[in-house]
Amino acid sequence: MKVVRFHAPGDVRIEDAPEPTRTGGDVLIRVHNCSTCGTDVKIFKFGHHHIRPPRVMGHEIAGEVVDGGDTGWRAGDRVQVIAAIPCGRCGECRRGRMTVCPNQESMGYHYDGGFAELMLVPAKVLAVDGLNRIPPGIGYAEASVAEPLACVLNGQTLARVGEGDDVVVMGAGPIGCLHVRLARARGAARVFLVDLNRERLSLSADRVRPDAAICGADTDVVDEVRKLTDGRGADVVITAAASKAAQEQAFALCARQARISFFGGLPKDDPVIRVDSNLVHYQELTIVGANGSSPAHNRQALDLIASGAVPVADLITHRLPVTEALDAFDIVARGAAIKVTIEP
Ligand SMILES: [Zn+2]
Ligand SMILES: [Zn+2]
Repeated sequence: MKVVRFHAPGDVRIEDAPEPTRTGGDVLIRVHNCSTCGTDVKIFKFGHHHIRPPRVMGHEIAGEVVDGGDTGWRAGDRVQVIAAIPCGRCGECRRGRMTVCPNQESMGYHYDGGFAELMLVPAKVLAVDGLNRIPPGIGYAEASVAEPLACVLNGQTLARVGEGDDVVVMGAGPIGCLHVRLARARGAARVFLVDLNRERLSLSADRVRPDAAICGADTDVVDEVRKLTDGRGADVVITAAASKAAQEQAFALCARQARISFFGGLPKDDPVIRVDSNLVHYQELTIVGANGSSPAHNRQALDLIASGAVPVADLITHRLPVTEALDAFDIVARGAAIKVTIEP
């Protein structure tokens, strides 16, 4: 079977691999869709310290059970797979904080991922309830987007996005689009989408229809958000971009008691930003992070998609076979798509 295998930074190959064989409590699935995101591009370019090559990439996975052994899963069951695998036993996991499990492993990093015709779902995924049945009425491509939506759901839960909030989303990529849609589903009053890249902003704004699309290249974002909010600023600011400038600017966009979500991380060699701590103090700001998603977030995300609360089908702009995965990464890197999915 054809797989997309990471060998070294800059060296990702489409190659033939033997079909995996199921053992123990693993489940063998046929991958129908494995979607791509900025993380795949990052791995392609820079690798990742948790990946021991050669490793099949791909972590936004949906498919069909081929052989479930004695796990209770049956051939033909439609399933979505979590990307981040918590241990389920440590102090954080026992307190229900599975997204910050220090023993977390990941599909496509520690285990072969979904850019392959067949994939083993490790018993460890089943142990934490991480193999989810796809609700009727949604396709595999939509189900594969449940993983990034689960991460977005974790971020907005921590940032307490809710009824009546004015929300600024900085970064108009696929994650930014999901943030706009989820904020609406959670009752936000208005959602403003910001990006430096005008083409990407209009591509995304066309689909998710924010209340305003603000291009930072030719507009003063702080002025514009103040104008749109009668001088108050936003109740929630989400940085969905790996940008120090965006993180620093987030403080100037805040209303009093606003919440800032640093959803996108910064490059690990340059992660220090400047913050006026008095703004946080006097305006009672809350700053939260976001580190992936738990198995429960993935199930909730599938339900949000299935119920129509967060539609994702129209965000899938490109479908490519596994043999064109490198083209897919290039499309993602150029920001020329919203969501690109691989159909092995
Ligand atoms: Zn991803
Ligand atoms: Zn744990």
